[in-house]
This record gives sequence, C-alpha cells and structure tokens, in this order.
Amino acid sequence: MQFASMPGLNPRSKQKGGLLVVKRKAWERFLSLLYPERCCCCGKPVVCGKVVCTHCRPRLKSILPPLCPYCGCAKKDCRCGGHRRHTDRCVSPFYHEGAARSALHRLKFDGKAYVAEMFCLSMAKTIQREYGEVVFDCIVPVPLSRAVSKKRKYNQSLVLAKGLAPLLKVDCRELLIKEYETAPQRELPAYRRSGNVLGVFSVPPDKFIHKGCTILLVDDTITTGATMDECAKILKIYGAKAVYAVTATASRLSES
Ligand SMILES: [Zn+2]
Ligand SMILES: [Zn+2]
Repeated sequence: MQFASMPGLNPRSKQKGGLLVVKRKAWERFLSLLYPERCCCCGKPVVCGKVVCTHCRPRLKSILPPLCPYCGCAKKDCRCGGHRRHTDRCVSPFYHEGAARSALHRLKFDGKAYVAEMFCLSMAKTIQREYGEVVFDCIVPVPLSRAVSKKRKYNQSLVLAKGLAPLLKVDCRELLIKEYETAPQRELPAYRRSGNVLGVFSVPPDKFIHKGCTILLVDDTITTGATMDECAKILKIYGAKAVYAVTATASRLSES
C-alpha cells in the first residue's frame, strides 16, 4: 500500500488544542464506524480522527524549545554537550519514553504503519517550527541493510520519510544504502557507536546528489547521533551542502 494514500495522511491534517486530532473526510468517518481507528500508542479504539487516546496523550513526552541544535533535545536535557556534528541540526517531536516509545515499537516491530501518521504529523510540525525558512531539495531516509529489511519487510525510516514528503511537499529519495549489517547501536556503549557505523553507508552509482543541495535526513530514533552523523558525512562527501536531521523520537541523557 502506498503510504501517502493512507486515510488521514494529507496536508489538511492538523493538531488542535494540544491534542493530536486529524480532520477526516466523510468517507473516512463512515469507514471508521465499521473499522474503528486505533490509538497509535496502545492500539485501543479511538474516536475517528483522534490518533492518540486520552490515556496515552499525557504520556507522550514532547521536546519543547529552546533546543540544543546538535542533539535535538531541550537545552536542559542536552546529551551532546554542544558537540558539533556533520548534521547541521537535529530535531525530534518526542523523547524516546512512555507512549512515544510504545508507538515507535508498534511501528518498528509490529508493522503498524498507520502509527507513522502520528509521528509524521508531529515531525512536520516540529520541522516547520524549528527549520522555518529552510528549503529542502529532498528527503532521505536512513537505510537498513538488505538482510534486516528482508527480515522486517520494510524500513520504518522510509515509511516516515514517505509520510513526510506530501506534508512538506518535498520528494523522498533513497540516496543511501547500508553496505553490510552491524551490531544494533542500542546494544553498544556510546563510545563504540561511531566506530560501529563508520564506512557502512554509501551512495550507489545509479544515484546522483546535486552539488550544493539541502537534505532532510530521516530516521526513527536518535541516541548518540552516530548513525545520522555518518549518513550526513557521506551525503556531504557526495555534494550536499547542508543536512538537517529529523527523527520521531530522541533519547535524553537521563534515559540512556
Ligand atoms: Zn492509547
Ligand atoms: Zn545537545
């Protein structure tokens, strides 16, 4: 199924009154009588258009400005100590805790692609707030290796990137490949993560990066930022001028 054609994921989607509410079309509301929509975080049925239930909403820990430009956490939760990276900036709508963590798990391991809607709306809103006037030439997802994408059937970063494309009106392009599998970053101590992903990403010969372009790099979550940093480095080697990053969730120092 084309993610962009999924019900509700359209540019009319909006957040109202601090609650995640999506304006549905008449046929979508009718369909929800037969097939109730479900909360992205816990899977319980919700009122049509409310993508997160009232129990989970307060458990979504939003990241509020002012933000650290390098790790994307609120300045008071900065985990990078102001360490500059190849990514020009990073932002995420939520901390990798509570309901957002459950929702991301549902997207990543249970294949609940509709969960991406909630994240894409929130990511788009954060991008508009933080990146303001930046004009992106394309949206690029962080790739999975061939072995992992076979096992998981789809790349959650690609699902998020494709969901963001119509909201931001920017094309999604798979410009990166992951050459071989590495140990999962979350299983390694922070000091080993940069080395673990060093040299594993590349741009395949059939892809072309316009010199001086500005890229929005998309991943599901960020912890130390080593993966995003390595991807941004490669994109810049191949000609990108600027690489701005966005992830669905970010870990803060106290949670690592
Ligand atoms: Zn819920
Ligand atoms: Zn920081």
